[in-house]
Amino acid sequence: MKREDRISAARLWAAYNYPYLASALFALRFVADEKVGRIAGDEYFRVYISDEVSRGWPVELIGVEMIHQVGHLLRGHALRAREIDLQESDLFRWVDAVDAELNDDLQEGHPLPKDSACHEDLGLPDSLFGEEYFFMGSTRTRNHRDCGSSAHGNPRPWDETAPERSTDGVTAEEKELIKRRVASDALTHQRNHGSTPLGILRWANSLLAPKVDWRSELGANLRRGIAEIAGAVDYSYGRPNRRYSFIPKVVLPSLRSRTPEVSIVLDTSASMSEELLGEALSEIDGLLSTGGIRFESVRVFTCDSEVGSAQRVRSASELRLVGGGGTDLNQGILAAVRTRPSPDLVLVVTDGWTSWPQSQPDRNRFVAVLIGEDPPSTPDWLQRVVVSENLDGRAKRKSK
Ligand SMILES: [Zn+2]
Repeated sequence: MKREDRISAARLWAAYNYPYLASALFALRFVADEKVGRIAGDEYFRVYISDEVSRGWPVELIGVEMIHQVGHLLRGHALRAREIDLQESDLFRWVDAVDAELNDDLQEGHPLPKDSACHEDLGLPDSLFGEEYFFMGSTRTRNHRDCGSSAHGNPRPWDETAPERSTDGVTAEEKELIKRRVASDALTHQRNHGSTPLGILRWANSLLAPKVDWRSELGANLRRGIAEIAGAVDYSYGRPNRRYSFIPKVVLPSLRSRTPEVSIVLDTSASMSEELLGEALSEIDGLLSTGGIRFESVRVFTCDSEVGSAQRVRSASELRLVGGGGTDLNQGILAAVRTRPSPDLVLVVTDGWTSWPQSQPDRNRFVAVLIGEDPPSTPDWLQRVVVSENLDGRAKRKSK
């Protein structure tokens, strides 16, 4: 079989057996190179393979090697090696440690990547993190393996230069997209089949969980706000007052539903991650429209705008997010509450590093949408939702 055919057969085998990894498997690009010895990867989803050595390998073995490389890339082993300041002299021990982390998740009956270590080889129980295997595990002396810079971040002689275009390899942004896609596929697979390996689940949850949290929190806050104003939902779930049935001739005023007035105060002087800000705004846009509020009816006060003048745009994506600062957030909030009709719900989108009015400026409902990790505290009269994400779950991994 030609190399290309063996690789496509192996890729299909891998995607069939590990379907939640498909997005990553199909992003791998293969480079034939005899210098590599056997097979190794880099940080850009390129896999260098020796044609001569791999010629006799069964499809499953090439498939498992692909799963293995994808594992190093998704779990950020190169980045994690840099975080512990890995030295070249400890390189093989590190590769053994992260290989053990990956091999814990291989399905029973599938071959191990050639010469790669398992938790037993390091004298430790399974399901630990690579760092734990590295710092607590024993050292293998007989075999070792270099999986490439994908596993440890140290450049290898066969590595091609970092890609500038996506045809040369996977760029950093594409890598994040692939990771998110795989993480979400892994969770879906778990819901539908219940057979996603523990290590992958843990990784997927740590990648996606914080994001899921802020979305549901923001959703709950906005829906409650909108529903209370519109009078559309009975939150008490209590029985209707039974006394009403004894006064049949009295016509009770019915709750009249109206569309809430919503204003957004956008702190453009703040230094916020544009990506997070964009995600938060598009989430707000979506939540409002499910609540029957069109984004174009929302008044947006940016901090650099003249006090009292509001922007109206058709969707969150049309907002101009670049601002020069100047006017402080207090002014923006006051401008929002002074405008008529008075807003029922005011969303203040900021990084939180700002002063706030001491007391609630009006009886409106206020929600602070705080963009970024660990924002400062906010006054009690504000509901608060923190929009942050932990891209690779490293903080959690360390605190385990
Ligand atoms: Zn490896």
